[in-house]
This record gives sequence, structure tokens and C-alpha cells, in this order.
Amino acid sequence: MGSLKMIEHPLRKSLIDWYDKEKRDLPWRKTNDPWLILLSEVILQQTQVSRGIEYWKKISNRFPTPKALSAADQEELLTLWQGAGYYARARRLHALAVQVSKPFNEGGFDGSIPDSIEQLLQLPGIGAYTAAAVASIAFNRPVGVVDGNVRRVAARQTGNPNPAQDSVRTWSNSMLIPGRPGDSNQAMMDLGAVICKPKAPKCELCPIINTCEGKADPSAYPAPVKRKKSIENFDAAVLLDSVGWPRLIKREKTERFGGMWGPPMSNISTDGLISVGQIVHQLTHRELRVEVWKGQCSKGVDPSSVPMSNLDRKILEIAGAM
Ligand code: SF4
Repeated sequence: MGSLKMIEHPLRKSLIDWYDKEKRDLPWRKTNDPWLILLSEVILQQTQVSRGIEYWKKISNRFPTPKALSAADQEELLTLWQGAGYYARARRLHALAVQVSKPFNEGGFDGSIPDSIEQLLQLPGIGAYTAAAVASIAFNRPVGVVDGNVRRVAARQTGNPNPAQDSVRTWSNSMLIPGRPGDSNQAMMDLGAVICKPKAPKCELCPIINTCEGKADPSAYPAPVKRKKSIENFDAAVLLDSVGWPRLIKREKTERFGGMWGPPMSNISTDGLISVGQIVHQLTHRELRVEVWKGQCSKGVDPSSVPMSNLDRKILEIAGAM
């Protein structure tokens, strides 16, 4: 642990010069609209950039403003969000749109995204990283982002295998080029994603290799954190009607995949049902193991008419639901 050595300005500048030449061509980098920038950051919280582009395009097309989303049903957003995972993000994004769309005298922002870190942090689903990203990119606020990528670059650059979160924040702030905080942060994001990758970093292409104290053995920085995945076991009951449609329920907000639809997975009795196999679904810190059971019901729901997670679609598939 400990503080991190700061990098001199001329070398910081080489990072942004590299960004100006090599930056990734991402659709949200062609807009200054704070809502569309916020939307990209929420999607990228847990979705890869390559897949995030597709979700950003369809959601921003349908909901070009917070007011457009606040006027829509949450389920419509969940339908567009299908397959992106971590559906709580979509529910919180809807709540955020509702909150900012309220008039000023009711505690809202009259449909605009607020421009200060403090106000952004008050919004549903906005943590320190997203607030810093939106404030710097959309509003030119000089605040550095801190996430796993930035921590990795900071650890390697300064040869500190275990930097404290506060020191990474100070280091990230020190890397901002005056007048271009958003670009500075995006340069750091691109460097972490494209060059200073967790495995096999491309040091020979790195614009800040001269200051890097960890380049001889980048894999040593940061020190690996051993985290064992927890395993959760479930049973899912796929009960089909005479045309092959399954009985589906809308999951409670407090449950996993809340707001999405799927076959019953809690408090079910498997008496009289037939086991048709197991699905193993990997999440970042958890492994879900779902034993799938099949039976009959009098009336099902057309699965294409409701928003469902990828896991629920796999469950229906293995049970032969239409
Ligand atoms: S020289 Fe290599 S390890 Fe150091 S910051 Fe650049 S890519 Fe990362």
C-alpha cells in the first residue's frame, strides 16, 4: 500500500497525444449530450464495449432524452436491455430518468443531467466511477476516474503492486491534462483496454513506457487478488401448456433478474416433474447452477412477448418450450 509517484507533465501529454491519434471509434464519442454519455457509461459498467455499442444505439434511439425514458414503462427498457445482463442497471436507469425529469421545485432537474459530481452521485445507479466519467466527459470537470483498469495502469507505472484506492484517485487526478479532463480519462480508459491489458500488455506500443516501473514484469502489478466464486443452486420449473408455451412469472424487484420474466425458480415443488438437465451460468463473482424440471400447465405465456434474461431463455430452450 502507499502513495504513488506522480508522472511529469510532458509524459502525461504523450498519453493524450497517443489518444488523439489512436482513440477507439465509439459512437458516444461523437456527441456532447450528457444523457447519451451517461447512458454509455451505465451500459459499460458491466457490458463489453463491442456489445455495448449495439445496446447504446437501440436504447438511445428509442429514448433520446431522460424525459422520453421516464414517460415509458420500465418493462420496455428491460426488453431492449435483454441479453446485456445485470438488469438492476436498467431498473436504476429508469428510476434515474424519472428523477431527473421531475421539475426543479420537486427535487428534479427538469429533464437535464446535473453537472456536478455531488448531484450525479445522488442519482440511482451512479457511483464514483460513473459520476467522474460523466462529469469530466460531458461537463469538463477536472476529476479522474478510478476503476480496475486505472488501478492496473497506476500499479504498473509506479511499480506498486498494491496501491490504496485513495492513492490511485490522486494519481488519476494528476494525470489529467488541464482543459481536457474528459479526453484524459478516455485516454486512460483506452490505454487500459487496448495496450495495458491485464494479460499480455503491448508495452512496445505504450505511449508512457518511459515512465513505467513495472514493464519488466507487468503481470506482477497489481498483485493478484484470489477470489473464489460462490456457487448458488436453484431449481427451475418449466410448465408447458398444450401449445408449448411455458408458465412465466414476472420476477420481484428484490430477486435476481428483477422486473424480467421467467419460469418459477423459488419455492417450487418438483413432485411429478421430470428433470431435463442442468445449466451452469457464470456471473462475475458467482456461479449459478440451475436444475431444470419440466411439467405441464393449463395456460402459458408467449416467451417472445416479455423481457427475459439469457439464462431464462436457456432454461426454456433445454426444456423444449416454444
Ligand atoms: S509499459 Fe507496459 S506495463 Fe507499463 S503502462 Fe505501458 S503497457 Fe502497461
